[in-house]
Amino acid sequence: MTAKLIMGTEIRETILEELAAEVKAIKQTHGVVPGLVTILVGANPASISYVTLKVKTAHRLGYKEIQDNQAATISEKDLLALIGRYNQDDSIHGILVQLPLPKHIDEKKVLNAIDPDKDVDGFHPVNVGRLMIGGSEVRFPPCTPAGIQELIVRAGVKTDGAEVVVVGRSNIVGKPIANMMLQKGKGANATVTVVHTATRDLAFHCKRADILIVAAGVPGLVKPEWIKPGACVIDVGVNRVGEKVSEKTGQKVAILKGDVDFDAAKQIAGSITPVPGGVGPMTITMLMKNTLKSLKFKLGMV
Ligand code: NAP
Repeated sequence: MTAKLIMGTEIRETILEELAAEVKAIKQTHGVVPGLVTILVGANPASISYVTLKVKTAHRLGYKEIQDNQAATISEKDLLALIGRYNQDDSIHGILVQLPLPKHIDEKKVLNAIDPDKDVDGFHPVNVGRLMIGGSEVRFPPCTPAGIQELIVRAGVKTDGAEVVVVGRSNIVGKPIANMMLQKGKGANATVTVVHTATRDLAFHCKRADILIVAAGVPGLVKPEWIKPGACVIDVGVNRVGEKVSEKTGQKVAILKGDVDFDAAKQIAGSITPVPGGVGPMTITMLMKNTLKSLKFKLGMV
């Protein structure tokens, strides 16, 4: 058996088209567009490339996008004041502070200063609480877990009553996706197990999974024999395992591998996400969806 590939690159395009159509309709009826500000402190090359991609996607959808670059020497007080100004700005519906921040700034303090109703990353404790309560309380599901759930739903994988095993318990992936999959509702309603480094028998749990979500950051951690035949495997891991020269650009690029032995796993799984091209493209897409949702909340549309 060869698994069906769940291509984030293709699903992203469908979602972005849906969002662009909604943005156009809201602009016509209400005369407003979603506003997103991305605050970048310093010049970390990885952060610059993430921010550039976010800005490009926002522009493509017709959002008002502000890229606010601040020097690495900005004080914590000034950064908090800047966030305070965007909190008050009615044309801004989403505020994103690109991490990591310089060492002299307390990241927690900065993220907690964002108005929870503009926290489109979904990391503010208020939004974490809303996610835990579930249902209509949820405002901004964090972007990578939201992307994972969207992939599962759009791939037509049944979640009701499914055994879901999540490898990893980080605050940005493992815990929120586990919480989302156990809620009563569409694309969820599953029986969820979370495993981590203190789990006694990782293989035992993985083998039971109808849906196996792996977010450990360990290349090839999940062995093919741990996969239940026909299971849906979502590989969140992005691990740099070397470099190669790109045929397209002639530039050196990283060789990326997931947490699952993809070539062997795809002979056993029913469906599987590749790395790259699976979960990765969904994160910024969900950020755009959350920003539009923020505007819709303000307009009383949701
Ligand atoms: P993280 O904060 O390092 O958390 C990793 C989790 O995996 C921890 O809970 C850890 O357990 C668990 N773990 C690590 N090694 C394990 C092992 N050998 N057996 C069982 N559990 C193990 O990582 P993260 O931020 O969640 O990211 C995970 C991976 O997803 C990374 O490769 C990251 O690059 C990728 N990622 C991708 C996207 C995207 O595609 N958009 C977004 C976010 C993350 P303990 O808690 O016991 O230490």
